[in-house]
Amino acid sequence: MKLYSTNNSQEFYSLKEAVMKGLPDDNGLFMPKVIPTLPKKFFTDLKNYSFKDLSFEICKHLFQNAIPEKDLSKIINNSITFPAPVVHLDEDKSILELFHGPSLAFKDFGARFMSQLMSYFNQGEKKELVILVATSGDTGGAVAAGFLKTKGIKVVILYPSGKVSMLQEKQLTTLGHNIEALEVDGTFDDCQALVKRAFLDEELNKRIRLSSANSINIARLIPQSFYYFEAYKQLETKKDVAFVIPSGNFGNLTAGLFAKRMGLPVKHFVAATNANNIVPEYLNKGTYISRASVPTISNAMDVGAPSNFARMLDLYSLQWNGMREEIKGYSFNDDATRKGIKEVFDKYNYVIDPHGAVGYLALKEFQKQYSNTKGIILETAHPSKFNKEVEAQIKKKVNIPTRLSELASRKKVATSIGTDFDSFKSLLQKKYS
Ligand SMILES: *Cc1c(COP(=O)(O)O)cnc(C)c1O
Repeated sequence: MKLYSTNNSQEFYSLKEAVMKGLPDDNGLFMPKVIPTLPKKFFTDLKNYSFKDLSFEICKHLFQNAIPEKDLSKIINNSITFPAPVVHLDEDKSILELFHGPSLAFKDFGARFMSQLMSYFNQGEKKELVILVATSGDTGGAVAAGFLKTKGIKVVILYPSGKVSMLQEKQLTTLGHNIEALEVDGTFDDCQALVKRAFLDEELNKRIRLSSANSINIARLIPQSFYYFEAYKQLETKKDVAFVIPSGNFGNLTAGLFAKRMGLPVKHFVAATNANNIVPEYLNKGTYISRASVPTISNAMDVGAPSNFARMLDLYSLQWNGMREEIKGYSFNDDATRKGIKEVFDKYNYVIDPHGAVGYLALKEFQKQYSNTKGIILETAHPSKFNKEVEAQIKKKVNIPTRLSELASRKKVATSIGTDFDSFKSLLQKKYS
C-alpha cells in the first residue's frame, strides 16, 4: 500500500511511515494512493461475513501486501472486539450504534486499530514507544482504553485538573499497566502546549521515542470504514441507502466515502452538524469559511476548521459539484437538537444522544427531498455520556452501562504536575529514557 500527502500527490509513503509519522512534513494529510473496489462476490456474500471477517477482507484489499495475512488477522481480531448493531426506528430510519466500546463512543474503533498497527510496526525496536496525549476529556479515554496492555507502547495522558468529569477522569486514571495519567494544574491548552513542546525538544527526542495518537492519523480512519459495511449487511432494502453522519472533524464521513469508493452501494451521505456549520455551508454555497468554534450541547462536534476537509476535497479532486452531488449538508441549533431528543423518545421510545439527535433531524430534512430512501444515522456516542441534556428532555434517568459506572469505585492514580516544561521533561526522562 502506498500513501501520498494531500499537499503533494507525487511523493509516496509506506503504510508504516504514514502510521508512525501521523502527519506528512508538508502539513497535508495522508491518503491511500489506491482505494480498491472489492470483488462482486464479496458483496453478494456479505451477509455471511462476521464483522471481523468483513473487516479483514476490506483491510486485506486496501493494505495489499503491507502486512502478511496472518498478522493482519491478529490485528483485526484484537481491534474489532465489540459489535455495531443496527436498530430500526421505522421503515426508513435506522440507527447504527457505535457506542459499544469501552469509552462509549465510535472513537474506540479508531483508537484500538491504531494501537494494534503501531504495536505491529514497532516490533523489533529496542526502545519502547511513548505516546503523548493531551485531552480535554473524551479522546484521552478512547486512547487509554485502546492502547491498554499494547506491547512495546507506553501512553502518557495529560489532562487539566478539575476540568474533566468524574467518570472521564476515572477512564484516564484507573487503568494502570502501560497507561500513565498526569494531572496538570492548568487548562487543556496548557496540556497541549506541554505535549507540543515535548515533540519539538531535541534532547528529549534523542532519548525517548515519542509519538502521538493524533486524530488525523490514517490508522484511525481505516477501521471506521468497516462499520459502514457492517451496517449495510444488516439491512434488507431495495431503496437507495443514505448514511447520516453527525460530524465535527469529518473523519467518520471521510471513512464512509472510502467505503463507497470500495464499492459499497451508498447513494448519499448526509453531513449533519450543529451550529458549527462550515461544511454544510460549503456544500450549499460553494464557499469554505473556517472560523472559531461555538460551544453547543453536541460538543464533540464543536469544530470551526474541520481537519478532514482536505481529505474530502482530495477525494473529489477539489470539485464542488461532485461533492454536493453525493453529500447533502444540514445544520441545527441546540433548541432544535433538544426537541429532536424528545421527539425520538416520544415517537420511537429510543434514547438518542445530542449528536445522534442532530443526525436524526438532518435525516428528516433530507427525506423531505429524497423520500424513497433508507436512512441510517450513525449514533456516535452513548446517551449516558450526555445524561443531563438527555434526561431533561425525556424526563427519565438514562442508564450508565456497567463498563463505565464500575469505574466510579476504582482508585484514581495520577501524578500531579504544574505547567512548567522543564519539570515535565525531567519526569519523562526519569521514567522513560
Ligand atoms: C468525535 C465525535 C464526533 C465527530 O466525529 P468526526 O469524525 O470528527 O466528524 C461526533 N460525535 C461524537 C460523540 C464524537 O465523539
